Amino acid sequence: MVIVMDLRAEEKQIKDVTNRLERLGFKTHLIRGVERIVIGAIGDRKEIVSSGIEMMPGVEKVVPIMKPFKLVSREGKTEDTVVNIKNFDIGGKDIAVIAGPCAVESREQLMETAKLVKEAGAKAIRGGTFKPRTSPYSFQGMEEKGLELLAEAGDATGLATITEVIDEASLAVATNYVDIVQIGARNMQNFQLLKAAGKIQKPVVLKRGLSATIEEWLMAAEYIMSGGNYNVILCERGIRTFETYTRNTLDLSAVPVIKQLSHLPVIVDPSHATGEWRLVAPLAKGSVAVGADGLLIEVHPDPVKALCDGPQSLTPNNFSVLMQELELVAKSIGRSV
Ligand code: PEP
Ligand code: MN
Repeated sequence: MVIVMDLRAEEKQIKDVTNRLERLGFKTHLIRGVERIVIGAIGDRKEIVSSGIEMMPGVEKVVPIMKPFKLVSREGKTEDTVVNIKNFDIGGKDIAVIAGPCAVESREQLMETAKLVKEAGAKAIRGGTFKPRTSPYSFQGMEEKGLELLAEAGDATGLATITEVIDEASLAVATNYVDIVQIGARNMQNFQLLKAAGKIQKPVVLKRGLSATIEEWLMAAEYIMSGGNYNVILCERGIRTFETYTRNTLDLSAVPVIKQLSHLPVIVDPSHATGEWRLVAPLAKGSVAVGADGLLIEVHPDPVKALCDGPQSLTPNNFSVLMQELELVAKSIGRSV
């Protein structure tokens, strides 16, 4: 159930409703939107019907949530969630572009990329530092040293920073350095990691699993929200299909589907979806056109020499051209990049 509070509800009324719910045995989640406050109540629905909660001062309505994902669902919280990050928002009117190399490789590589993507209009720099790869013999990432470099690049440019975490240990370290943590496709159902991400104070980008249905993906987001972290950003990054020409198949329909099912922001990663830099620009533009709130794009100063995912990385110059094209697409739907 979701208790939608009246626009003018006072703090005391919110507290009274929360206390009453907890006495009835519900676990409560106070979710403050820009316009409204809603209280998610997880527990036995029958208890609410006879409890008189709907009559309490400050309550506008009680909405039963039919979907298995409760806090994530748009049924109760109809207003879009806007996630605030140090210098920008994701989920509001503007489209946020996050860009950077697949992996942090060196200070020079990261600083140069950060400077150039910032000039082109990116809001955040990405860079993997924990990189267990398909092959154990491939480059495995710079770990904490790479996180130090990300923090340095963020300080030098004013960009927000994001990195992937792969387990509870890397999550604990990464939160000391970056503004956003990313849970990768391979860990979408790492439930221990999702639970741990529910306890941190930083926004989480949750990538769709390689073969995950939209419902499984939203249930993974529910794990994070049910832990108390409501700043979840969903990221479509392509799924496994019979098609082998592209690395994965970008499921662009997931974007409007998610918008119907959930209030959470959704971004698209056209780099991992395609595996091929020439396909990144058209799919980035398509993503904006179908309503994505942001993009995650791999950019490397010298893709040929990249230690990871060079073939799908844009050069800074191609990225800059793309940003200008994206502005036109965004404008056509009343948004801006
Ligand atoms: C990444 O963004 O660096 C990454 C590994 O992506 P994914 O989890 O989508 O494969
Ligand atoms: Mn990559």
